[in-house]
Amino acid sequence: MRKAKVWIVDKKIVCMLVVVVATLSVGGVAVVNTSPHSVVVIDAGHGGFDGGVVGASGIKESELTLLIAKELAAKLEQQGVRVVMTRNTENAVGKTKKLDMQNRKKIIKKAGASLVVSIHINKFSLQSRRGVQVFYDDTKVGESFASIMQTTLNERINQKYSSRHDYQPIAGDLFITKCDIVPSIIVECGFLSNPQDEKLLLTAQYREELAQTMCDVCIQSLQESS
Ligand SMILES: [Zn+2]
Repeated sequence: MRKAKVWIVDKKIVCMLVVVVATLSVGGVAVVNTSPHSVVVIDAGHGGFDGGVVGASGIKESELTLLIAKELAAKLEQQGVRVVMTRNTENAVGKTKKLDMQNRKKIIKKAGASLVVSIHINKFSLQSRRGVQVFYDDTKVGESFASIMQTTLNERINQKYSSRHDYQPIAGDLFITKCDIVPSIIVECGFLSNPQDEKLLLTAQYREELAQTMCDVCIQSLQESS
């Protein structure tokens, strides 16, 4: 009798474990196999005195970049990846633009980053320009990471929302992508000069899809490099 009772308890535990394992592996929240030393630095562009570009609705780039950066951080952490954010409040990282950028560089170097993802929102004189674009350092360190990020964003975001599937990552002399010699990219998450992109950026669902896509590419890149 006693034995049977124990078995029932054990059976329950076994069942619970099966459910947990099944959830972890099937539910898409399995902790992925990346190096325990992997660190992704997420840089929410602008902040504080520097709001960045502003949309017709009055939304500031700095507000949107923080929302997207936090969403991406949460998703990576759920997958067991360590995340360092250059800022996680609306405040700037320094009193002047120069100090702000220098402090971001210090944070990136101190973090021992494996990857750096800097989040920004675009603005362009041509109002019809839409979609997500990826930039990387012209020393080519981030070329492969930028390429897979842009391709995946084209497939999962640009094609779905703006019929764009042909963006190529753009190399440039960009401070934030040269703070450390690790794959570093800027993701310009849409155009605040375009009304449809602005509308999308204001929705939690679009920001969530963007963050999920960026998270998946980060995980893939970390796995390939480990
Ligand atoms: Zn910006």
